[in-house]
Amino acid sequence: MFYSDYHIHSNISFDGNFDMEDIIKESINKGLKEIMFTEHLDYREHEYILPLPNFSQYFSKYEKLREKYNNSIIIKKGLELGLQPELKDKIEFQIKNLNFDFIIGSTHIINNVDFVDKVYFENKTKYEAYNEYFEEILESIELFNDFDVYGHLDFIKRYGIYENNEIDYDEHEKIIEKILNELIKKGKGIEINTSGFKYGLNCFHPSVDILKKYKKLGGKILTIGSDAHHLIHLADNFEIVYNTLKELDYKTFTIFEKRNPIFKSIDEFKIK
Ligand SMILES: [Zn+2]
Ligand SMILES: [Zn+2]
Repeated sequence: MFYSDYHIHSNISFDGNFDMEDIIKESINKGLKEIMFTEHLDYREHEYILPLPNFSQYFSKYEKLREKYNNSIIIKKGLELGLQPELKDKIEFQIKNLNFDFIIGSTHIINNVDFVDKVYFENKTKYEAYNEYFEEILESIELFNDFDVYGHLDFIKRYGIYENNEIDYDEHEKIIEKILNELIKKGKGIEINTSGFKYGLNCFHPSVDILKKYKKLGGKILTIGSDAHHLIHLADNFEIVYNTLKELDYKTFTIFEKRNPIFKSIDEFKIK
């Protein structure tokens, strides 16, 4: 059993499948002590527009459920914000004056092209496609301030069209180091996101190389989330995360409250 899951989508997100209450019940079943809903906000202007979350519905549901399950589990209210430098004002306008406990900043769309559409990879070498992804991340995290951790860093490899989609860490080390340094400088963190397992990648994001580098550079803020869109994926493969963090000698993981990081001993993550 594990303390928390810090990346969960209910059907408030355009691609979520379960009601918040079903997720809460299953999280209690799984022995989680705390969960963070991180609903999608991905702004897309052209072609097929992604529906934005209905925040008033989200917040009123959240308040009711938080009260109802008060004695069983801590429930928090977060967001996964799609970062797109050219749409910064429009994106920030959507969340102006909304109070969240936690915001994950992620990159799902570059220049209005979703990685799911393989067109992103057309007319680029593997190096160019992956490098453009990391450049976009760097630009985004330099520009945006309204997020707490950067989400699933390196998940571009999920969408690659190559025989081997693995990222050659050495090839991209410089830009990855710049990203991590910028996050640390701004007081932001990264997440470990276990969704790679359900996509058959047999890994979490980011890779162990990046986790090692983050620690070496002095990175401390680290949240752990499943990115579940289905009940079966809640706290997915957290055992592997725990074991890896122990091996890498990470002493703490991070939870958030009203956008403030709280550090907890890594031994509290795994509940005996
Ligand atoms: Zn995401
Ligand atoms: Zn997500």
